Amino acid sequence: MDTRVYPNPQLLVNGEWRAARAGRTIPIVNPASGATIGALAYAEKTDLDEALEAAAKGFAVWKKVSAYERSKIMRKAANLLRERIDLVAMLMTMEQGKTLAEAKAEINNGADTIDWFAEEGRRAYGRVIPARAEGVYQLVIKEPVGPVAAFTPWNFPINQIVRKLSAALAAGCSIIVKAPEETPASPAELIRAFVDAGVPPGAVGLVYGDPAAISSYLIPHPVIRKISFTGSTVVGKQLAALAGLHMKRATMELGGHAPVIVFDDADVAVAAKVMAASKFRNAGQVCISPTRFLVQEGVYDAFVEAFVANTKRLKVGDGLENGTTMGALANPRRTTAMDVNLEDATKHGGKVKTGGHRIGEKGNFYEPTVVTELANDAKAMNEEPFGPMAIINPFKSFDDAVAEANRLPFGLAAYAWTKSAKTANAIASQVETGMISINHVGLGIPEVPFGGVKDSGYGSEGGSEAIEPYLNPKFVTQAGL
Ligand code: NAD
Repeated sequence: MDTRVYPNPQLLVNGEWRAARAGRTIPIVNPASGATIGALAYAEKTDLDEALEAAAKGFAVWKKVSAYERSKIMRKAANLLRERIDLVAMLMTMEQGKTLAEAKAEINNGADTIDWFAEEGRRAYGRVIPARAEGVYQLVIKEPVGPVAAFTPWNFPINQIVRKLSAALAAGCSIIVKAPEETPASPAELIRAFVDAGVPPGAVGLVYGDPAAISSYLIPHPVIRKISFTGSTVVGKQLAALAGLHMKRATMELGGHAPVIVFDDADVAVAAKVMAASKFRNAGQVCISPTRFLVQEGVYDAFVEAFVANTKRLKVGDGLENGTTMGALANPRRTTAMDVNLEDATKHGGKVKTGGHRIGEKGNFYEPTVVTELANDAKAMNEEPFGPMAIINPFKSFDDAVAEANRLPFGLAAYAWTKSAKTANAIASQVETGMISINHVGLGIPEVPFGGVKDSGYGSEGGSEAIEPYLNPKFVTQAGL
């Protein structure tokens, strides 16, 4: 197959890849060229009803497959995904804009995530509780919660889905994925790997359409027992409220605004290099992207200089081209948001050290941008920029840095750099965050927890914690006859 031929992604309902019943499609646009590259099947109520019926039937079948067999099928899916990496990475870059290297890293991490959950499913132990009377057995059994509805965004087309999909399937749940309409083909390939590996019809469904119409139909529906959402805090709060109203379990992985605290005793050269690479990964469209750099006064100038130098080395271009180190932004909303943030930043004292402009007429390209000395009431100091924009401000004392880190209602990721074990321990304990990475960037691998606190949501999507939301504990007490 010519890997450059972009498909017209279809729905997966009851094991069948098909068009929407009403035949409706929406265009898919390549963010690097602005060209329409495909047409996406757009589900409406009839399609959702069929997907729900299939999910109920699929659950009845899949929950009876042993954890051992489920694990084998999942491992096969992981290997199929690895075998198809060149094709899937090409599709992801064409629809999302990130570089091919980033797409491949995401797919490999996705395959590792499937393997991790495949094994966790085999370890979904219950327990035996000592009884108060002889001959009584008190057992806790873990059962799958039931059909799941998952809603995921366009920044990591595979990785946002694979955490939910793998945990649900490993636990014995069925799942309907509402995948991102702007980046639909690579998620379809992820799901194809599961179908080809032998997941039965209905255990996995895939739909696209109007996100609000689909979530407001699926979440209250009696077939659905759990929801999981990744996206903005505003939307997450709406969906969590709906889930609460209908007593559905929910996992919410929402926005952040990660502080990066660089102390006077840090290795400035290493910190600037590692954090610049992390900042501009996926053009900054990452929920754990480092965004508010807080640098202690003694190393402030040196850090800014080194960070700007690393930023200027980036090569922006089409993610398919060799040598590109930062691709296009995924959609025109992000370039508009960058313009708005930059205009507002200059009004609030921000100094643009590098970048600050769109690149070219075609596609959503933006210069990697560094702004310093930005006032706290600037827009970008309060809402995650979700684009290639780093903000660097100086701080005096440890307490000042902690106060600024905790100022916002978000608490997803945080980073710190120091050579002092005492400072490292203190900062890890005092920053209100779901994850903190000190002296390196080490977040987001399958075996470690992934999730936030405060307005960044609740529930973990990594580590051994991540399978629990897909399991119900059932207590059984049994006496001898
Ligand atoms: P948005 O907030 O409307 O959408 C974010 C995601 O949520 C999209 O995938 C969208 O399809 C989905 N969505 C929106 N409304 C929904 C609904 N009612 N039901 C179900 N899904 C719904 O806008 P956007 O322009 O795509 O992104 C804007 C902001 O969202 C970004 O600036 C960023 O802050 C945040 N975001 C966060 C993540 C993340 O990884 N946490 C990913 C993408 C976007």
